[in-house]
Amino acid sequence: MANLPANLHITYQLQYRKCGKASCGTCKKGPGHGPYWYAYWREGSKLRSGYVGKVQPAGVPQSVVARAEARLALIRVGA
Ligand SMILES: [Zn+2]
Repeated sequence: MANLPANLHITYQLQYRKCGKASCGTCKKGPGHGPYWYAYWREGSKLRSGYVGKVQPAGVPQSVVARAEARLALIRVGA
């Protein structure tokens, strides 16, 4: 898990990632590997991100989880 800043506002998103391997069946037939949680935050004007993993990060509000899963549902149907 990435080192996340404790003093900044972090937003969490569930995302699929392509591994880039031409022979990977998972990426060929779907949106990629995952979903995995990623954290996003701003440091000054820079948007930073960090890999969190498959397990939902502690302290994520249920509303954020619901929104992340709703976005995933759109990705799954190819919208
Ligand atoms: Zn893959």
